[in-house]
Amino acid sequence: MKTVDLIVPCYNEEEGLENFVIQTNKVIASLLEYKFRYILVNDGSRDKTYLVIKKLADKFDNIKYISFSRNFGKEAAMYAGLQHSTGDYAAVMDADLQHPPELFPQMLEALEKEGYDCCATRRDSREGESAFRGVFSKLFFKLSNKMTDVKMPYGAMDYRMMTRQMVKSIMELSEVQRFSKGIFSWVGFNTKWISFKTVDRQLGKTTWKFSSLFKYAIDGIACFSVAPLRFTAVMGGVIFLISLIYIIITLIQTLFFGITTPGYVTMLCAILFMGGITEMSIGILGEYIGRIYMETKDRPIYITQFTNFDDDEKETQEQ
Ligand code: UDP
Ligand code: MG
Repeated sequence: MKTVDLIVPCYNEEEGLENFVIQTNKVIASLLEYKFRYILVNDGSRDKTYLVIKKLADKFDNIKYISFSRNFGKEAAMYAGLQHSTGDYAAVMDADLQHPPELFPQMLEALEKEGYDCCATRRDSREGESAFRGVFSKLFFKLSNKMTDVKMPYGAMDYRMMTRQMVKSIMELSEVQRFSKGIFSWVGFNTKWISFKTVDRQLGKTTWKFSSLFKYAIDGIACFSVAPLRFTAVMGGVIFLISLIYIIITLIQTLFFGITTPGYVTMLCAILFMGGITEMSIGILGEYIGRIYMETKDRPIYITQFTNFDDDEKETQEQ
């Protein structure tokens, strides 16, 4: 019998978690030829999520959990879950039922019968989302597909199911600053994209603010591409050429027509423009240096406080 691990990051999900397990169990019950196991990762929730998880783990014996010592973020939670996964297939999904478990049969079929290594989802509609967020997210997918070698269709989501082999490859990317959507596509393999209509969160509330989405977008590009660095270099070159032309023109003017003193506006514009460009380039450079700094510290991606996994079940940790 094939085994499937369901990796679920949970942050402040006390209200909806039990319902999530009940709803998911209904789908699982119809897939008798697979053995499902939950890996619930409590990402340092501030509410009673941990107690809910423990209660659920006592009730159902296919529930495993890892509880972090603080909030490390969804990326870290997904990493911890994948690291503990030993199933033939592993799925990553949210705890708020925005990722419908009803897609499991379709995903399993893609992996088992259609020969795919991964079955990922993309959202069909962006109902209930502000137009501004929609435009921003479109721009992000366009930019990141252009600038990086990881290609993602518009609306790509984290919700997906993949084979053991793909999970293993993902674990080989041990970077601390993780951008999973990019990592999933960076490792390659055959991915089938299925789309579905997103539904509003039923219980609890989203933890994403616009500022965190902005940070997410920057991460997405900076983690997978040095194109912004190249952009500053090219921009420097172009400005240099333009300045050269302007210098020649000014020199000729001065030599043949004498010194014309007025030039206040030109000077001011040039100083401000160059100042702006320099600041921006230093900023981009700094973004990358900051990443190098954080990466060289080689800190653990998460710290476990409680778990019901045995030590030897963690496959890749001690590598
Ligand atoms: N989550 C997490 N750590 C965080 C923030 C969120 O583990 O710091 C989990 C959360 O519990 C949920 C999933 O990530 O299962 C997606 O979060 P949310 O529903 O808030 O985001 P959205 O659906 O708006 O993308
Ligand atoms: Mg959600």
